Parts: sequence; C-alpha cells; structure tokens
Amino acid sequence: MESFTHDTNPARIVFGTGQVSKLGDEVERLGCLRTLVVCTPGRTAMATELSASLGDKRVAICGEARMHVPMENAEIGRAAARTHKADSVVSIGGGSAIGLGKAIALECDIPLLCVVTTYSGSEMTAACGMVEGGRKVHYTSPRMRPRAVIYDAELTVGLPPAIAGPSGFNAIAHGVGSLYRQSSTPMLRLTSLDGIRAMAGALPRIMADPGDLDARGEALYGAWLCGMAAGGGSRSIHHKLAHVVGCSFDLPHAETHTILLPHSTAYNSGHEPEAMAAIAKALNAKDGPEGLYALEQTVGTPTALKDIGMPEAGLDQAADEAMQNPYPNPRPLDRAAIRALLDNAWHGRPPSLV
Ligand code: NAD
Repeated sequence: MESFTHDTNPARIVFGTGQVSKLGDEVERLGCLRTLVVCTPGRTAMATELSASLGDKRVAICGEARMHVPMENAEIGRAAARTHKADSVVSIGGGSAIGLGKAIALECDIPLLCVVTTYSGSEMTAACGMVEGGRKVHYTSPRMRPRAVIYDAELTVGLPPAIAGPSGFNAIAHGVGSLYRQSSTPMLRLTSLDGIRAMAGALPRIMADPGDLDARGEALYGAWLCGMAAGGGSRSIHHKLAHVVGCSFDLPHAETHTILLPHSTAYNSGHEPEAMAAIAKALNAKDGPEGLYALEQTVGTPTALKDIGMPEAGLDQAADEAMQNPYPNPRPLDRAAIRALLDNAWHGRPPSLV
C-alpha cells in the first residue's frame, strides 16, 4: 500500500433539493446572531429571498462580489461586516460570492457559510486568490474554510447552460488535478473519479433540459466531490496556466479552465498513465484528454482561447509567466512545449502530446 498524507476540508454538508430552508438552522447552530449576506450584483434578489428565513439575524446584504475578488471589493465587504458588527458571513452564489465571503472571513475572523449556486468548488477549499494592484495574490487560511455548505439543486435550475457548462469543467479540472500522484491519496482518487463521472454524465443532460432537477443534483454532487478533491490539493500546470492566462488577459475564469483542460491533461499524459486511464473510464471514453475535448463539444462550451478574448500576441507572455513560480507538476516544465500547448488551446485544436 502506498504512503500518503490525506488532509481535506472537514466542512459540514447539507445536500438536497429544498435544503436551503435549513440556512437559518445552520447559522443558529454556530451560535451566530448577526449575519452579513454576500452575493454578486446580479444575484441580490435571489440572495434576499433565500436569506429571508434569517429574519433579524440578517444584518445586511452586500452585492459587491466580483470575479477574482478585487481588493477594493473585498474592502467594501469587510467594511460592511464591521459597520454592521457581523458575527458571520453567508455567501450565496458561485466562486465570486464565495471568494468575497472568504476575504471577509479571513480579515474579520468570523465563520463563513455557503449556499452554492455554481460548480466552482471554491466552497470546499480554504484558499482564495485576490487581485491586488493587477496581480493575483493567493491566500490560504483555516479561517476561509466554510463551516457549513448547502447544496440545493433547485437553486441551480436558473443557472444558464452557457455558465453551467464551463462551471462544470472547472469542477472536472479540480478532479483531474487531484488524480496526479503528487497530490493524490486513495480517498482523493475515489472522490475525484466519482465527481468527474457525475459531472460528465450530468452536463449533457442539463444542456438538453436545463430544468432537469435530477441532472442538476447530479452536477452539484460532482461539484462537491471535485471541490473536495481540490481542497486536498489539485494544483498543477493546468491551474498555473488558468491563473496566468485568466488574470493577465482578464478572461472569464471557468471558460479559461474549460479550454485549457484537455491540453494541460495531454501535456501530462505520458507521465501519468494511471490517471489518464482513470479519467478515460470516468468519462466513458477511450482516452482522457480526447474524452475531455469531446465532452466539451457535446456540451457546447468554448474550445478556443481566441474566442474568449485572448490575443494571439499574448501567447509568448503567457508561456513565460507559466515558467515563473511554477506549481508542482508531474511532467517537468518545458517552455517550448507549453508554448505549443497554448497555441493548440488558442486555435481550439484537439489536444495532442506536445
Ligand atoms: P461566478 O461566481 O462569477 O458566477 C458566474 C455568473 O453566474 C455570475 O454573473 C453570477 O451572478 C451568475 N450566477 C451564479 N449562480 C447563478 C444561478 N444559480 N443562476 C443564475 N446566475 C447565476 O463564477 P464561478 O465560476 O462560480 O466563480 C469564479 C470565481 O471563483 C473566480 O474568482 C475564481 O477565481 C474563483 N474560484 C475559486 C476557487 C477556490 O478554491 N478558491 C475555486 C474555483 C473558483
């Protein structure tokens, strides 16, 4: 039997259709009396409705969450927590709302609860990137570990397919990264593979019928498992490229992950044959990277960086940045191969071993 260190998020999970009605109980369970609710600007009506059960315990709603947690927005949220003497923060939404909740929990040292409405998996990690002076700075702290997470499929029925698809691939990317030997444990393999299987099965069903509650539940289940795997460690060249490309060129987070995933997986394929076989099996495909690319086409997500705003002239800069402060990766970093990988991803070609 292999040796390993397994260290994942012990968050309390409340899962199931209609379970958002338990939000008040979960806040009470932590003994909190003054809750700040945070969300993205477009979700304030939803957040207001879903947190109404908190009654007087909801002291304010802050709709200032933005992708990548710009520090100025984090400061607005922190100021709201201080002004209203919040003793807890509830994030309602996807990774952006959860990121703002984490920024507040980190600074104000108050518990974070999450009501999840996308598949980003951020609710299962104790990490968060925040943008300071145009640069993404990564924080890790037990304070940012959500104390309770509610997954309620009914809340995701309105998540448009164009957001749901890439968000699902963001989850699958966590699962894939957790299969590499550098971070994998027997438990992470089980959770990652079942998470990838569930998400890969659910996404085509959601595209066919966005109101399919069963498929929405299956996708949330996949997001939870892949997020849990991410909490145990899933960083590799894939996450490095997604951060570099997403931040330097201001590209949408989930779409960037989606497009890069088949290519970054192919980059590692020769060094991780067991992970590749497992990914292929979870996707019910012959080959891991090709199976990911084929699933993207079935789901109808973007497959080319050029289609989401990446300038071709930026590919050299991205390759250079990927070589700086690298994340651990199964295959040693080779600048020429990474440049070729990015070129494939920019054009939207099928993945190949570069
Ligand atoms: P998001 O939270 O920005 O949501 C995308 C859009 O979908 C937003 O406009 C939001 O208002 C809308 N939306 C969310 N739920 C909806 C619903 N149920 N119905 C209709 N619209 C809905 O996107 P995301 O991809 O979930 O999160 C991206 C952010 O999360 C990035 O900042 C990324 O860095 C971060 N992230 C962090 C981690 C981590 O572990 N720290 C992991 C993954 C992502």
